Parts: sequence; C-alpha cells; structure tokens
Amino acid sequence: MPNSLARYPEYNQIIQSVLKADALLSGQKEVLELLAKRAPLFQVLHRLVSIVEEQYEGTFCSILLVDNVQKTFKAGVRVEYEKNYCEEETGVSILPPYMGPCCMASHLHEPVLVSDIENDDRWQAPWRDWALSNDLQSCRSQPIFSSTGEVLGTFAMYHKKHVDPASTNLYQIEVTSHIAGIAIERKLIEQEELIKAEQARLLNEELTKSIHMRDEFLSIASHELSSPLALLKMQTEINKEMLQEGELSQEDILTLLDNHATRIDKVIAAVRQMLDLSNVAEGKLQLRCHYFNLTEVLHDVSDRLQPLVKEAKTSLNLHSEAEVMGYWDQFKIEQVCTNLITNALKYGDNHPVNIHLSLQDGVARLEVQDQGNGIAACDHEKVFQRYERVVSPNSKKPGLGLGLHIVKEIVQAHQGKVWVESDIGQGARFIVELPIDASHIE
Ligand code: ADP
Repeated sequence: MPNSLARYPEYNQIIQSVLKADALLSGQKEVLELLAKRAPLFQVLHRLVSIVEEQYEGTFCSILLVDNVQKTFKAGVRVEYEKNYCEEETGVSILPPYMGPCCMASHLHEPVLVSDIENDDRWQAPWRDWALSNDLQSCRSQPIFSSTGEVLGTFAMYHKKHVDPASTNLYQIEVTSHIAGIAIERKLIEQEELIKAEQARLLNEELTKSIHMRDEFLSIASHELSSPLALLKMQTEINKEMLQEGELSQEDILTLLDNHATRIDKVIAAVRQMLDLSNVAEGKLQLRCHYFNLTEVLHDVSDRLQPLVKEAKTSLNLHSEAEVMGYWDQFKIEQVCTNLITNALKYGDNHPVNIHLSLQDGVARLEVQDQGNGIAACDHEKVFQRYERVVSPNSKKPGLGLGLHIVKEIVQAHQGKVWVESDIGQGARFIVELPIDASHIE
C-alpha cells in the first residue's frame, strides 16, 4: 500500500491533510473539554496554541491578551520559543508606533499580514530583530473578538519560511481565535462575578459594622442622656426637701443652681453633638460664613466653659494675637473650639490647659494643649473617627466618641486640617489650621 501510494503523491497529500484536519479537530475537542471543566485560562490557551504548532511544522503561535483600559498587552501565551506560558503583565503598548503586528491588529481591529518580516519597515527594531533571530520570515496576526465585538487579544501564526499569510490556514486561524475568544470572555465574566461577590461581601461587612456601631452608640447615648438627667432629678428633689426644711442659705441655693446649670449644659452639649452628627452624616454640613475675629470667639468660648474649668479644678491659659480675622462659619468654629477645650479639660487630669491662637501666611492656627495621659500614636487617626473612644472600658470619663469626628468634619469643610501630637504620658496637643478665607468653598 505505501508503495502504491508513493506513485500517487497527490493521494498522499490528501491523506496527510485529512490526518492533520483530524488531529486538529480532536485537539479542538480536547480544548473544548478543558473549557467545559473550567480549566485555568492559560492552560486552555496554551493547549490551543500547542495543537496548532504540533500540526504545522516550522510554525510558531502566540496568543496575547489586551488590556483595553491601559491599551497594552497584559499577558501572553507562547509555546515554541518560550516553552511555557506567562501570566504576568507584559505592559507593551498597542498604540502606534506599533511594536509589532499584534499591536497593530489589536489597535486597528483587523488582521495584519506580514509576508516578509525582514523587509517590512512597519515595525520597530526590537520586534523585527527578535523575529529574525528566531528565523521567522512571515506571519499573520488575527484579532480575537468578544461576542460584542470588543478586541480581547490576538492570535498570531509565525512561519520559518516565506508563506503567503493571506491564504494560509485561514480556517484554522479563525477557529482557534474563536475558541480563544470564548475562553477569554468566560474568564472575564468569572472575574467580574468574583469582583461583584467581593464587593457584596465588603458591603455586607460594612453594613454589619455600621449596625453594630449604631447599636453601641444608642446604648451609650441613652446612658449619657438618662444618667445625668436622673441624677439631676434626684438632686432637685433632695434640694427641694432641704429648702422646705429651711436647711439652705441663699448662698447654698446659688451654688446648687450653678451645679445644676453645669449638668444641664453637659446634657445640652451631648444632644447638640448628636444633632451635629446627623447633619454631618447626611452631608448637610452647610457653611454660613462671614468675617469675624476668632480671638473674640475663643475668649467667649473659654468664658462659657468656666464652670467646667472650675469643676476640673484647673485653669485655662489663653495666648492669642489680638485679631485673627477670617471668613468662616462662626457657629461651627465655636463648636470646634468648644469640643477641643472640653476634651482638654476632661482628659487633662486637672492640669492647666494652654490655648494658643496665631496667624501666619493666611492660615489661622489654633493649638489646644493639655497635660493629661495623652494618646498613643497608633490611635491618632482613630480618635477622629465616628463613635471611636480610646478610654478603658471602666473609665469614669463619659463621652459619645463624636466630638473629634465633628471637629474634623467642620475643619475639613473649611478646607482646613486638624491633627493631634501626643503620646502616652505626654499630654495631648490638638492643632487646627484654617485658611482665613473659605469664601470659595461655600
Ligand atoms: P468623647 O470625648 O465624647 O469620647 P471625642 O470624639 O471628643 O469623644 O474623643 C474621642 C476619644 O479621643 C475620646 O474618647 C478619648 O479617648 C480621646 N481623646 C480626645 N481628646 C483627648 C485628650 N485631650 N487627651 C486624651 N485623649 C483624648
């Protein structure tokens, strides 16, 4: 039989073509099975490329994947010359001047044919040198399209001899590109699904955390509001009885009323913080700015806080330039000063609190420094977050964990900055910097 066939070379050729077609077909079947088994993308592409190379002697194939955002090749598969596939970013730009035919094919969305690599001056030297050093004479690069017509990559066939890329293996190239397209598109869909699942998980985590924080806040808030009010009520009843029994002098009554006023102020401050928080949270922090002297406001605030200073058995030392004029929301900046000074009195371990206000290069700088236990460096960011407190659970110092968060929101709304410089046992210095003209941000 072989002898008789040798006499008819055309039959031999037909049989060879049939065998080749058969091998290609069973190779493609194998690739489709890999796809159905959800094999990794690069395993599928690697096999796809190897099948073609095995059947066409002197042919080298590659599949490159395009990053359509960066306009680069992000990864590729080459078998013959690199013996392996790579998944790392290649980063080669697909834009002109084109590095090679695959860049051009993916950018122009059409096949690129090169019948004589050596004498084709469309390409830059590195690509041509690489091709010639590997004995490659001609090639065809075919864009791989998605089902919606987007270019996902390229499938290229290189030949070690001069062949006319317009007429060779067209059917094979189209089938291979099509299968590669299905594999790449499926991978992209899988990646998208993974990203969506991860986003949903993060959202869920965030939501659970918010609900937990809200519950914790509600319990602290109700404690913060109900305890002082219950105490106040109890004291008022005791004082009423004492008054009826004639046990109180006018001086005693004045002292008691002062104490009651301080307690009521604290409740008012807590309620105000909650209202401020809801404004901040709903993005309602609208500024109503006008020119005013921050020095005067600071003096007013420290006068108003004298009952707290008295209660902390300490003093407030205020050093300020006579006039620090700025275009700010007065009510909100008062709130910033109040929160920082109140904290310095609360956490300052009964030591004097120093306040310093200055103006330099169009920026007002307020420093509130206490000599309390301070804040560890790792908590400097945390104390400005909503509901965050870094006091020990059995601390006697009440609070909602809102004051500094509100300070930060107000300062940032004025395009300013606030931060703390402190360490454990070193006291804390809170610094606010406000540009004096916030008119452009209203
Ligand atoms: P609150 O005082 O109501 O807890 P804040 O938002 O004002 O809430 O402060 C957040 C946390 O930052 C406080 O709980 C406290 O742990 C810490 N903190 C704030 N100011 C000081 C300070 N001057 N010294 C030490 N710690 C402070």
